[in-house]
Amino acid sequence: MDRDTTTTAGRRGPDPRRRLPRTDTVLADPRLTDAADRLGRPLVKTVVVRALERARRGEIPPEAVTDAAAAALPETVGGLRPVVNATGVLLHTNLGRAPLSRAAREAIDAACGPTDVELDLATGARSRRGASTVAALTEAVPAAEAAHVVGNGAAALVLAATALAAGKEIVVSRGEMVEIGDGFRLPDLLVSTGARLREVGTTNRTTADDYAAAIGPDTGFVLKVHPSNFRITGFTRSASVAELSRLGVPVVADIGSGLLRRDPALPDEPDATGWLRAGASLVTASGDKLLGGPQCGLILGRADLVRRLSRHPLARALRVDKLTLAALEATVRGPAGPVHTMLHADPRRLRERAERLAAELRGSDVDARAVESEAAVGGGGAPGVTLPSAAVSLPEEYAAPLRRGTPAVLGRVEGGRCLLDLRTVPEERDADLADTVRRAGTSAAAREKE
Ligand SMILES: *Cc1c(COP(=O)(O)O)cnc(C)c1O
Repeated sequence: MDRDTTTTAGRRGPDPRRRLPRTDTVLADPRLTDAADRLGRPLVKTVVVRALERARRGEIPPEAVTDAAAAALPETVGGLRPVVNATGVLLHTNLGRAPLSRAAREAIDAACGPTDVELDLATGARSRRGASTVAALTEAVPAAEAAHVVGNGAAALVLAATALAAGKEIVVSRGEMVEIGDGFRLPDLLVSTGARLREVGTTNRTTADDYAAAIGPDTGFVLKVHPSNFRITGFTRSASVAELSRLGVPVVADIGSGLLRRDPALPDEPDATGWLRAGASLVTASGDKLLGGPQCGLILGRADLVRRLSRHPLARALRVDKLTLAALEATVRGPAGPVHTMLHADPRRLRERAERLAAELRGSDVDARAVESEAAVGGGGAPGVTLPSAAVSLPEEYAAPLRRGTPAVLGRVEGGRCLLDLRTVPEERDADLADTVRRAGTSAAAREKE
């Protein structure tokens, strides 16, 4: 291999390896010293060493090492890379579910330093942690007397089960024994707290009488779970929250999605206000689904029960950090964010964007066309609901280079084409998307030739 490099180089002159710059010389380039301040010297040095290795292998000329290193610098120190979600799945669990609003991002930034998360600056005394976030939730959901925030939706259920039903029974329908994804099953999670499950009804039909017959001195609470990632149709029946609330025991209702109020775009999706008004004692939900906030779990409802949960020793282990509290409050109080925009996007506008992008790309010799598409809520929400959308359709060979590009773009491969669904792409990213597709085209064409 060495000899090959020499031979290739031989045609161009002396052995290029002798012309290789020293690592320190490359590192002294202003672009790389700046990067060292931002990313740390070890990381930048690794990038330089890799560029030098490429030159040694003859992949790039020695003069190009500094430029190659500068081009290969990562944007951030972290391993998490930003992705343009062009899958058409609004809440993509593998992409971290809800993208945050600008208000939420700014709130996180503001909370990064020391902040009054547990201090009353007026009096100088210690205050309740995250009080203003909790206030934002109860103001947004007046049907809730109190609120508490934990790490995620599953943690909200675990805390409710531990504080209200450890050593007791949770009465739950066999039709609501849900697996939430990646092998995690709610029944297993609940049993892990020391509560016993008292299953009632059948997979397709459970009545209020089934619950009533199971309730006794051992009952901790009745659990209602919204089947958020599947649908049972046909000969079905389930008891409503209103019916369950008349059974004389607390009703804990898991809505999943985190909608605080009804959204006309999703008429079948339960919301916290609706289920609390129907008589639920507590509603639990995720913060990073349809609410559009950071990962967290919401507990809303009766003041005495919320207090029992928030005062339980386990609450300390499930508490969220100040960044989450900041982002959640900004999500609840601030202007509607990307999830709302995606959900309510006008299909005609999406079509216009697809037509314009496809035409632009055809002008750059990319085999692109605008096609109709169907987007989905995803992330365990609104199962079976499809949202009319539009996509830019590209040859399937584009999928891999787009995924590996900068920014990484994740589309959907369907019918031998790579679809970029625009419902999940913010409009201001369109120009960026077109550039990335053009660059991916170059490497897709190169690979076809190989
Ligand atoms: C998503 C979901 C959960 C789990 O919430 P996480 O925030 O992912 O922990 C629990 N129950 C239902 C009904 C859900 O949809």
